[in-house]
Amino acid sequence: MTDTPEKWNAATKAVHAGTRRSQYGEVSEAIFLTQGFVYDSAEHAEARFVEAGPDEFIYARYGNPTVAMFEDRIAALEGAEDAFATASGMAAVSGALTSMLKAGDHVVSSRALFGSCLYVLEEILTRYGVEVTFVDGPDLDQWKAAIRPDTVAVFFESVSNPTLTVVDIAGVSALAHAHGALVVVDNVFATPVYSRAIEQGADVVIYSATKHIDGQGRALGGVILGTRDFIRGTVEPYMKHTGGSMSPFTAWVMLKGLETMNLRVRAQTASAQTLAERLEGHPMLSRVIYPGLPSHAQHDLVTRQTGAGGTVLALEVRGGKRASYAFLNSIKVGVISNNLGDAKTILTPPAFTTHQRLPQDQKDALGISEGLVRVSVGLEDTGDLIADFEQALQVASEMEQAPAE
Ligand SMILES: *Cc1c(COP(=O)(O)O)cnc(C)c1O
Repeated sequence: MTDTPEKWNAATKAVHAGTRRSQYGEVSEAIFLTQGFVYDSAEHAEARFVEAGPDEFIYARYGNPTVAMFEDRIAALEGAEDAFATASGMAAVSGALTSMLKAGDHVVSSRALFGSCLYVLEEILTRYGVEVTFVDGPDLDQWKAAIRPDTVAVFFESVSNPTLTVVDIAGVSALAHAHGALVVVDNVFATPVYSRAIEQGADVVIYSATKHIDGQGRALGGVILGTRDFIRGTVEPYMKHTGGSMSPFTAWVMLKGLETMNLRVRAQTASAQTLAERLEGHPMLSRVIYPGLPSHAQHDLVTRQTGAGGTVLALEVRGGKRASYAFLNSIKVGVISNNLGDAKTILTPPAFTTHQRLPQDQKDALGISEGLVRVSVGLEDTGDLIADFEQALQVASEMEQAPAE
């Protein structure tokens, strides 16, 4: 394995860190599409099962050279001691939490969560005797009141989906650490490019690699980052025996994704910032939510925490479902779907898709209205996006003014 000098900047690490070259000296990372590994002798087989060295593998569910390259590269980028790659973002969220918790433990979680994260915390962990208290993520007083001496972990999305509220990583970490609780951060919307979560106090950082790491809509994947003790001592035994490991082919896709992630995410963020600035105040929009806008409720925190607004914005179209659907159906540069972080601009109506399952009172509490449209800004020309959004809003406006049939 090549060494990664600590002093390298993130963009350099994203291209070179963790590379393991075979005896052929290939330039591009090899895909080791093998589930197993051959031992020189029965004695070697026995020795490897007693203790596998850092570059010795047993079975792909436990580890694989291509997957290890991805784990080492993302760990170097994030400034984490180690990483475990998983089959999806949800395998990472559920694996991180389930591997560390047991019946009787107490967890405090932010309420504004991706639908499947909420399901894991509210429906699954509680079924196994874990007590979960939900709080309003941006409100530090609620965290302070909810975290108890027996709280084992706190969980939150640093930027919530889809309304982009921001949780203060340093603030919540200080409260949690005062009671010895682990801080687990789902950092998808912050992206590995802008993340400083570990230096800000997070103990465990999770990404859905499906999003910005692949960034081109090809593969599901995830990763759990943390201390070597936590990753190898707690996460690995759980993941390797329950089966949520990443496949070598996926790891190769993600390695290639990491090479260009820095360029993609910075370009998409710049475009999202320009689009948000252009659309703010549009007569057909009651709200433009974007962490990079000074009007965002936690803009100061965003400046401190990541320094960038990210690749996603949320628009609230006036006129509810009818108008927002007219807007969505008129978009030509971009697609209606539900992924994010992709090279293609993706628009999602959360109230009717990703967050459909939420009861109305929770949708209201989280601000997930019928007119809300989540926009993941892609790599198209920014001018083309602005022109397209403006014409689609014009269609929605004409629809609004016409009498309903
Ligand atoms: C997409 C997403 C996940 C789940 O990731 P998958 O790769 O789809 O399993 C978890 N958390 C957040 C915040 C996400 O956006």
